[in-house]
Amino acid sequence: MPSDAYGDLRKLAHEIGVLQGVDALLNWDQETYMPPAGAGVRAEQCSAIATLVHQLRTTPRVGELIAACEADPKLTGDPTSATARNIREMRRSYDKATKLPTSLVAELAKVGSQAQEAWKDARAKNDFPAFAPWLEKMLALTRQKAECYGVPKGGELYDALLDEYEPDARAAEIEAVFKPLGDRLSTLVKTLLEKGKAPSDAPLHCKIPAERQHAFGNFVIEALGFDTKAGRLDVTTHPFCSGLSTGDTRLTTRYRDEKFTDALYGTMHECGHGLYEQGLPKGDHLGEPLGDSISLGIHESQSRMWENFVGRSREFWQWALPHAQKTLGSGLEKFGVDELYGATNTVQRSFIRVEADEATYNLHVMLRFGIERALVAGTLAVKDLPGVWNERFEKLLGVKVPDDRRGCLQDVHWSFGLIGYFPTYTLGNLYAAQFWEKINADIPGLKAGMARGEFAPLLSWLRDKIHVHGKRFRAGELCERITGKPLSADPLMRHLESKLKPLYGV
Ligand code: ZN
Repeated sequence: MPSDAYGDLRKLAHEIGVLQGVDALLNWDQETYMPPAGAGVRAEQCSAIATLVHQLRTTPRVGELIAACEADPKLTGDPTSATARNIREMRRSYDKATKLPTSLVAELAKVGSQAQEAWKDARAKNDFPAFAPWLEKMLALTRQKAECYGVPKGGELYDALLDEYEPDARAAEIEAVFKPLGDRLSTLVKTLLEKGKAPSDAPLHCKIPAERQHAFGNFVIEALGFDTKAGRLDVTTHPFCSGLSTGDTRLTTRYRDEKFTDALYGTMHECGHGLYEQGLPKGDHLGEPLGDSISLGIHESQSRMWENFVGRSREFWQWALPHAQKTLGSGLEKFGVDELYGATNTVQRSFIRVEADEATYNLHVMLRFGIERALVAGTLAVKDLPGVWNERFEKLLGVKVPDDRRGCLQDVHWSFGLIGYFPTYTLGNLYAAQFWEKINADIPGLKAGMARGEFAPLLSWLRDKIHVHGKRFRAGELCERITGKPLSADPLMRHLESKLKPLYGV
């Protein structure tokens, strides 16, 4: 064994990180600029890179190097040191990867790429039966993957998938948090809509051309601290952020003439992910856990914080409105700060998750969590998906789903095998709320500064407490370290009630 096992391990991780960036670039391109006729070869390209990455990650030499590092007390003597945690996470990732046969990884990448195209088409045509066979294929492959990982102790098959996105999380524990949270949210929504008076949403009816929205979006993300020399904003069907590599973070959004705030908040959301990606120490640790994000829940806490806690605050509009009026025009000039603040906090029983308000959003997530858990358990068949979706949606949100495009076909996730992913969205909201209370305690002038467009204190707090650590801590550990308490639904409920009840006069 070489004397510098850790150095060699890091070199290998770097090589893998470089290739993962190529894979992410292919995916970004497929979602933004690739002409439809390129889809066939693109699926092969994605599969080829995924195979190569998998082979590198699972080569026995990686296992030998990890074992050598684990046995070296200089590296792992203090199990909480950054180096020891880096090695611990490399072990975790190696053990998981070696459970998957290369053929399955290649098949998942190829079918995922094809199914994603089928989904785009089916969604546009509102044609669930055309997508169903693809979803069945992806579900079968994803279940096969979960079986390779194995059911975690005391858990269920779904947990094996969840663990990829939220290490150590269990569906039963999530359900225990979601169930009472869902009840409290349903009660809040009912009170607001049945007893309160909704603020006017008139400012959102201004028709604003996409180019102006794009210019304003770019202005806002730069003001928040997104480095546009190390990233860019493009247009896609389903907005996402991809931290391709060191110095290259891609944000995407989509525009409609009406309701310009959908794109604005979508952009701020992805910018929140992008700020996290730009804050990770990838320059020193590309491809290593120390250069990577903690979990999807923590990632989502960053996006939801900038989108909702910042973007839907009165202070944000105090700063942003004059700029919005100048750049967007189109009648926005006649509205004031309170009107924008009210309009961007209206609560609605609506169909599309990514456009849902803060109060109903988590109900959309809970619906998907229940459904995908049943799909993996085999208690729900793909052919019954639209019916079950519509029935549960009506129960949760109180409105009838008009078509599958606005129902079970709206999200891209399942088409490429992201199953076990949805609950991380609600976890993100919970983490964001809990961090937000602590941030405001730590920075008393935060909100007053936001009203002047000063977002640097918030960003540097996030950099210092969260981004700089990479994957050194697990999500629950980070939460306790920062806030002194385990994750709870109370801060989110406090945030929603203290904001929405006065706005609705209840
Ligand atoms: Zn997100």
